[in-house]
Parts: sequence; structure tokens; C-alpha cells
Amino acid sequence: MWSTEIGSAALTEVNYVTDVPSAVAAPEDTIPFIDLRAQYERLKPAIDQAIARVLEHGKYIMGPEVAELEEQLAERAQVDHVITCSSGTDALLLALMAWEIGPGDAVFIPSFTFTATAEVVALTGATTVFCDVDERTFNLSPTALERAIETMLSDSTLTPKAVIAVDLFGQPADYPSIREITDRYHLKLLGDAAQSFGGSQHGRPVGSLADVTATSFFPAKPLGCYGDGGAVFTDDPDIAAVIRSLRVHGQGSNKYDTVRVGLTARLDSLQAAILLQKLTVFDEEIVARQAVAERYSRELGGIVDVPVVAADNQSVWAQYTIATDQRDQLSSYLRDRDVPSAVYYPSPLHRQGAYQGPRFVDAGAIIAERHSQRVLSLPMGPYLTDSHQGRVIDEVRRHFY
Ligand SMILES: *Cc1c(COP(=O)(O)O)cnc(C)c1O
Repeated sequence: MWSTEIGSAALTEVNYVTDVPSAVAAPEDTIPFIDLRAQYERLKPAIDQAIARVLEHGKYIMGPEVAELEEQLAERAQVDHVITCSSGTDALLLALMAWEIGPGDAVFIPSFTFTATAEVVALTGATTVFCDVDERTFNLSPTALERAIETMLSDSTLTPKAVIAVDLFGQPADYPSIREITDRYHLKLLGDAAQSFGGSQHGRPVGSLADVTATSFFPAKPLGCYGDGGAVFTDDPDIAAVIRSLRVHGQGSNKYDTVRVGLTARLDSLQAAILLQKLTVFDEEIVARQAVAERYSRELGGIVDVPVVAADNQSVWAQYTIATDQRDQLSSYLRDRDVPSAVYYPSPLHRQGAYQGPRFVDAGAIIAERHSQRVLSLPMGPYLTDSHQGRVIDEVRRHFY
């Protein structure tokens, strides 16, 4: 799904990152895991014109589309500041850099997430503490988080600095409980909303639920562009100003004034232009995703564990992820019948080779390990046809009968 990304090592049969053209050209009877073609066909004239306008005005970097997109995103997320950037990973990194997180600091993250959540912490030189997740929602467990913070405070010389809560599969993390903990221990709260932009909690939009929120516009995310892209959301004007500077090499008062060590982390004008068009149908798409999820849950509940959305959460269903003890059998059964599925994630991050050593702490992520063995994500998207939904449901049911 997230194409190369989420899947990198793990995902073999569905590889939308390296393989977007073939995903786009899926024949009629093939069930797409994520259907990027149907959306393009729907928006083709508007997107083609938007791209042509950028090529005409020639402001490829920081063109007018970037500012317009940031304004629209800020309004949608009900935050004061949105800084678009080069990817969801860079959005996370920019937030940690702006907070000056570094060696000697501890950053707490769930172990059941995409690798980018851990990678950015490691890049700052801070120590990553992998925490366990909730049995039902797959998101960071507040109890496990608090236990990990207490352990770090008593057993180490590191300073707890920040928590990255991940909104896995499109559903916001338990921000009220996590916020209570981050307030009590004076930690920063960063929301990894790469999969959840467009969702909400207690009626408040994703983007406004943490001190700083990062999202991704990777093509397969609920709001995706045609390349890499991301955005940072915050109400904090000082952090927003630092992130704006970091995204252009730590620029100061003019182009050749460098006041901090930064990155090249801007969003292309072309991608902003494409996103502005996609935003015009985003709300409708979320409604359509919701309908697919409701049908799956109605017809598969009782056969497998279907996703649980916490009260007061609205998910954008980046993934529809079931769980079963027969995961591997089910996934090969589906493959044999041309029903695509994917495992997010086949290994919790504290088990990954890259995250071993003195700057990585496994705080005991037992449930994350169990999820890795049981989860399976089914085809999902606003353009998944009724008949394709029916085929997915029939084949899953058939496996169990
Ligand atoms: C996709 C994803 C990211 C990274 O986003 P990119 O735009 O691909 O860099 C980070 N965290 C999570 C949870 C993701 O799913």
C-alpha cells in the first residue's frame, strides 16, 4: 500500500511505490489494494490543468500553490500554522529538530508502527524507547507509556523529552490520556498523523490534537500527492517559525543568512497544486471509505477480529486491518484467489536490525509482537467497487468455512 514505504522490506506482492504505473493500470477485474487510477480519472481535467499552470508560471519552488495549500490545510485542521514539507518523515524530523531533541534525550514511541517513526528519533541522536500498544486499537498504550517513562526516570541518566503518538491505520491515538501523561512529566507531544489526516477525535480535527502534528502525502496515504510530500501542524508560532527556517537550510533574514543547521525539505509547487485539487473531493472520499469499512465490519465481524474504533474517534481508514490466528493461511488463500492483502507490520520495530544497540530501548512491547503475527490489511479505498468489496468478503468467509 504505502507502496515502497510501509512495505519496504516486507511487502512483496503489492508494491505501489516502485510500481505506481502498474497499480494505475490495473485491469478492470483485478481488485486493486489501493486504487489510485479511479481517483485520477475522476479528477483528470482539473489535475492536468493545475499541473499545466505550474509549468506556465514556472515557480517550481515555493510557488503560490504552496501558500494556498498551507492556508487550506490550516483551516481544515483548525490550527494557526501549517508548514508543508518534503515527506511525512521530514515532517516528523523537522518537529524533533525544532525542539532541539538530541543525544541524552529519550523519545517514547509505539513499537507497532512504520519505521519512519523510529528513524527520525535515531537521526537526532536521541534514544528511542519502544513502548507497547493497545490490544484493540493498535495505538500507543497510555499505561505502557507511563511505565516506560517511570523506568527511564529510575534506571537511566537520559532525560525523557518527547512522545510520538502514532494514529495507526487512520484512527487517532488516545490523545486525552497521553496528553495527561505528557503534561505530568513535562514532555512534548508529537502526533504522527501520516495515516490519519482527515480524521478527528471528540470533533477536533487531526492536526490539532498534539503540540505538533506531522502528516504525509505519500501517494497511498488517504490524502496523497504524486510523489513525496508532508506537512507539519502547530499552534505554536515560535516552533512554526523555526520549522519554516529549518525547511530551507536554516535560513535567517535572507537567503544567504544561515542561522541554524537545516535541511532541503520543501514541498514542490507541483505537488501542492495536485493536493489542492484532491482536497476538493477529500471529504466525499472519507465518507466512501467509511462505508467500505462499515460493510467489511458488518460482514466479517464474528469471523475475524475487525477493527475497533474508539468512542469519539473518526478514522479515515488508511487501512482496514483485521486480525486472526490464521493470518498466514488466510493471506496465501487470498493470494491464490487474486485478492490482494498486506501485512502492516510483520515485525515490531524493536525487533528490527537497525534499532538494536545502546540508543534503543525495548520497554516490553508484547502486544505489538502479537499484532505482528495476526494482522492483515484488506483492500481499502473510496473507489473500491461494491462488487470488489463483495469478492473480498466472500473469499475471507470462504477461507473459514
Ligand atoms: C507513511 C508513514 C510515515 C512516513 O511518511 P513518508 O511521507 O513516506 O515519509 C511516517 N509514519 C507513519 C506511521 C507512516 O505510515
